[in-house]
Amino acid sequence: MEVLEISGNPEVAEVCVARFRQDDDYTTETVDGLTPPQPREEKWVINVSTQFGCPVGCPFCDAALQYHGNPTADELLDQVRWALGRHPGVAERCRKLKVHFARMGEPALNPAVLDVMESLPAVVSSDGLWCCLATVTPRGRETWFERLLLIKRRLFHGRFQLQFSVQSTSEEDRARLIPIPHWSLQDLALYGRRFFDPGDRKVVLNFALARDVEYNPEVIEKTFDPEKFAIKLTPVNPTAAGRKNGFETILRSEESALLDRACARLMASGYDVVVSIGDEREDQIGSNCGQAVRVQRSGTGPTVGSTVGPRIDSVIASRVAG
Ligand code: SF4
Repeated sequence: MEVLEISGNPEVAEVCVARFRQDDDYTTETVDGLTPPQPREEKWVINVSTQFGCPVGCPFCDAALQYHGNPTADELLDQVRWALGRHPGVAERCRKLKVHFARMGEPALNPAVLDVMESLPAVVSSDGLWCCLATVTPRGRETWFERLLLIKRRLFHGRFQLQFSVQSTSEEDRARLIPIPHWSLQDLALYGRRFFDPGDRKVVLNFALARDVEYNPEVIEKTFDPEKFAIKLTPVNPTAAGRKNGFETILRSEESALLDRACARLMASGYDVVVSIGDEREDQIGSNCGQAVRVQRSGTGPTVGSTVGPRIDSVIASRVAG
């Protein structure tokens, strides 16, 4: 692993762009992040690129612009080791050390992700180790998800965070936003119900809401059990791909007030609802998924020590533990 660039703010999050196999096609982004004001010993988040780019092609995501296959288990672990190695001795003391499998790439398309999850407890010597996964749930990867369920039960019971990138309550809109065959809302509900065991974190349904994308609380109420699923709303980030395809977020816009009623209704129905609004300064340094690699390749990227403001998580209902 050859580190090409590190950008961001050590007090919030730093993004490392690294190259593997001595070839620019095999480039990853790894995030070494905190949740201010909590110190690293309290909560530490390491985000690992699960693919070299991403083949899914979500129209608002810069990672979709390039795809060059899967990192091996060693290449995934190198990213974790890179972050651990920057803060010697902290993992052992850390109360919550979350390893996220998400950016860049779709983790379910890389079989090595499961091998790495299995080896994480041996690599990360921390009683506070958590495993986290964000996925668009590609169709055809059912065997992968069955193995994931077994790994969670065996190694991460009560310490696993599963997030479905749902994006919309309309299957039609979802087909546009996740342009590969993927699980339906009903499929998500069935698997999520099985995945959740007593003592686990609720399965998170993430909606990156954009204008003209359906978000209907009634569909959520009919499909997902509030005892097992939580709702998270995030902005559609202003990526190059998003701008090119005309995406505008509802959050951080004058229309965001329209969401308040839908959120209040879901909370009244028993759901945990979190609205996570990123600080706009994050956008300026290109810390959104896929942006760092794209910007680094263009030669206009931020440099080591450039600053980014703290992420502002506006928690409407805070019963989802942090
Ligand atoms: S949002 Fe995720 S699944 Fe979609 S293209 Fe980007 S990295 Fe891939």
